[in-house]
Amino acid sequence: MTNTTIPNTFGIAATADCYQVVSREEELPSMLANPTLVEKPCLILGGGSNMVFTRHFSGTIIHLENKGVRLMEAHDDDLLVEAAAGEVWDDFVRYCISQGWYGVENLVAIPGTVGAAPVQNVGAYGREAKDVIHSVRAYELGTGVKRVFGNDECRFGYRDSIFKHELKGRYVVGSVVFRLHRTFAPDIRYKALSDALLAAGITSPTPTQLADTIAEVRWSKLPRPEVTGSAGSFFKNPIVSAEHYERLKAEYPDMVAYPVADGYKLAAGWLIECAGWKGRSMGRCGVYEKQALVLVNRGGCTGADVIALADAITVDIQTRFGVTLEKEAIII
Ligand SMILES: Cc1cc2nc3c(=O)[nH]c(=O)nc-3n(C[C@H](O)[C@H](O)[C@H](O)COP(=O)(O)OP(=O)(O)OC[C@H]3O[C@@H](n4cnc5c(N)ncnc54)[C@H](O)[C@@H]3O)c2cc1C
Repeated sequence: MTNTTIPNTFGIAATADCYQVVSREEELPSMLANPTLVEKPCLILGGGSNMVFTRHFSGTIIHLENKGVRLMEAHDDDLLVEAAAGEVWDDFVRYCISQGWYGVENLVAIPGTVGAAPVQNVGAYGREAKDVIHSVRAYELGTGVKRVFGNDECRFGYRDSIFKHELKGRYVVGSVVFRLHRTFAPDIRYKALSDALLAAGITSPTPTQLADTIAEVRWSKLPRPEVTGSAGSFFKNPIVSAEHYERLKAEYPDMVAYPVADGYKLAAGWLIECAGWKGRSMGRCGVYEKQALVLVNRGGCTGADVIALADAITVDIQTRFGVTLEKEAIII
């Protein structure tokens, strides 16, 4: 059993049977060409910022720590930039800005690694990783065989990709190639962002001003992982039928919801806040004071504390609104 601290932004003490760190992408083919890896549970870990450890992991954790960012190709305005999976996502974004490579500014300050970005197609402030991912180089668990997935083959969707479905847990991403630009075209359509720029008297932001403003807006609503443990949004926004939505809307006129193809998407944070959970704690886990969608570590929190609170909220939301909440965070 490993005694190594397993990184996770919730700050939960976790253990595993075996813990392997990948420092160079070249290690992956031989490390993964081990058929026993697919016989026992295997977990691929980046920054652990979307995970909650609730028990000892009886298997192998493969932690990506390979580093490196390089300009592969430059064609007039278009650039292909390759980044290693173990690069910290925010460092990568800031490095791109410093080099005059644009397209990822709105995704600044999202916790985690480059390798995890295509897995859930990270997104924020009107942009998603899929907008800039050119291809993903990955290696199959159990054989070590390399495969390059083009953008289309990743089947990106909202916080979704092939790596969360057909290929879930089957490929380790070693590096990602991004298509970026030399021309800076700020996307400031997101309301909270345009409001913040306006308030700061900035009409035409520089790339750094844009990234700094986004980071500021972000951290005014979300807990910084280095200060307060969390896994970001803990629940998914649930989708209900139009009929169900109409019933709830009649009772709760200020309920936050958006029409989608198969009904209405409700803001889970609004439901949780309306049910009076915002700021409350159960044991060592609590609901963040500034955003009810986020569960936080109040100090010494365990996976069991998180699950107890999450279950209590889920039961309450079901009873009050007839809505089933699903967890967005990955429960290990
Ligand atoms: C405070 C906070 C705010 C957040 N805000 C946002 C946000 O605005 N937008 C957003 O999209 N997300 C957000 N998140 C969630 C999180 O940042 C993303 O899910 C991020 O991509 C996770 O990266 P990670 O390296 O920590 O992945 P991990 O948590 O380690 O892993 C997440 C998943 O990716 C898989 N994985 C990780 N690395 C690899 C790899 N190299 N190869 C194959 N599979 C891999 C894991 O097996 C797991 O299934 C937030 C989280 C926190 C804590």
